[in-house]
Amino acid sequence: MPAQIIDGKALAAQVKAEAAAACAALKQKGIAPCLAVVLVGEDPASQVYVRGKVSDCAQCGIESREHRLPATTTQAQLLALVGRLSQDPAVHGILVQLPLPAHIDEQAVINAIPPEKDVDGFSPLNVGRMQLGQPCYLPCTPAGCLRMIESTGTAIAGKNAVVVGRSNIVGKPMAHLLLAHDATVTVCHSKTRGLAGICQNADILVAAVGRQGFVTGDMVKPGAVVIDVGINRGPDGKLHGDVDFAAVAEKAAFITPVPGGVGPMTRAMLMQNTVAAAARQTGAGH
Ligand code: NDP
Repeated sequence: MPAQIIDGKALAAQVKAEAAAACAALKQKGIAPCLAVVLVGEDPASQVYVRGKVSDCAQCGIESREHRLPATTTQAQLLALVGRLSQDPAVHGILVQLPLPAHIDEQAVINAIPPEKDVDGFSPLNVGRMQLGQPCYLPCTPAGCLRMIESTGTAIAGKNAVVVGRSNIVGKPMAHLLLAHDATVTVCHSKTRGLAGICQNADILVAAVGRQGFVTGDMVKPGAVVIDVGINRGPDGKLHGDVDFAAVAEKAAFITPVPGGVGPMTRAMLMQNTVAAAARQTGAGH
C-alpha cells in the first residue's frame, strides 16, 4: 500500500493557528509579540525565506521588523545592530538569516543573540539547554520534523531512528530530540560505512543530506516513517528532497513531500518560538 503523505502545509496551518491564538491572548494583556528579521546581502533564496517569515508573522498577528543590510556590511556593523535589537524590549525574537556573507563569522553573530531572543534555537546556551532537557527554544526544523512524526500517531519510544546528516542546525538536534523521545538513534554522515544497511533498519528515517534523491527505495524498511528535510534545486529548476519520493512512497507507511513538507513546518515553528519568547520575556507565561 502506498505511503500516507504527511501534509506539511496543513500541519503548519494548525501550528500557526495555535501561535495566532497565543499571540492574540498576549495582545489582550498589552503585549505585542515582535520578531526582528535581519538579512545581509542579496542571496535570492534568503530573500524568499525572509519574505515568507514576514508574511507568516502577519498571518499570526506577530509584528515583524525587517532589517535589510548590504552585502558589504561589516561584522562590527551587524553585531552593533544585533546589540541594539538585544537591548530593545519591544523586540522578543531576533532572527539573522543564514548564510551570512563569507567575511562575517556566523557563530560570532549567533553568539551575540541573547538566548531569550534566540528564536532559531542556535545559540550555544539554547543548544546546551536542549541537551540537558531544560526549557529552551527548539531549533525550528527538527522541532517541525518531530511534530510531523508525532502527527502520524507513531509511538517513538523504543523505535530505531536513523538521521542521515549531522549538521548543527538539523541532523544533530534532530538526533537529540528523537533520543529525548526514547528512540534508539543512529546518526549517519559522509564517513558512515554501510549506510544503506543502517537505513534499512530504521522505523523512523530522517534525511538531511542536501543531495537530491539520496535515499532510494531499497534503503527503506517497509512501514517506515520517512521525513525528507532536503531542499535541492534540480536540473529541472524545481525543488526536490533528499528522498526518491516515488520509490520510497511505495514502501514507507508515512512520507513527507518536498515542497510542502518540512519547509512550511519549519516556518510555523518559528512563529511558535516567537510567541513563546514574548510570553517568557514579559513574564506572561511558560
Ligand atoms: P549540511 O550541508 O550542513 O549537512 C549535510 C550533512 O549530510 C552532513 O552532515 C554531511 O556529512 C551529510 N552528507 C553529505 N553527503 C553525504 C553522503 N554522501 N553520505 C552521507 N552523509 C552525507 O546541510 P543541512 O543540515 O544544513 O541541510 C541538509 C538539507 O536540508 C539541505 O538540502 C538543506 O537545504 C535542507 N534544509 C531544509 C530546511 C527546511 O526547512 N526544510 C531547513 C534546513 C536545511 P558530513 O558531516 O560528514 O560532511
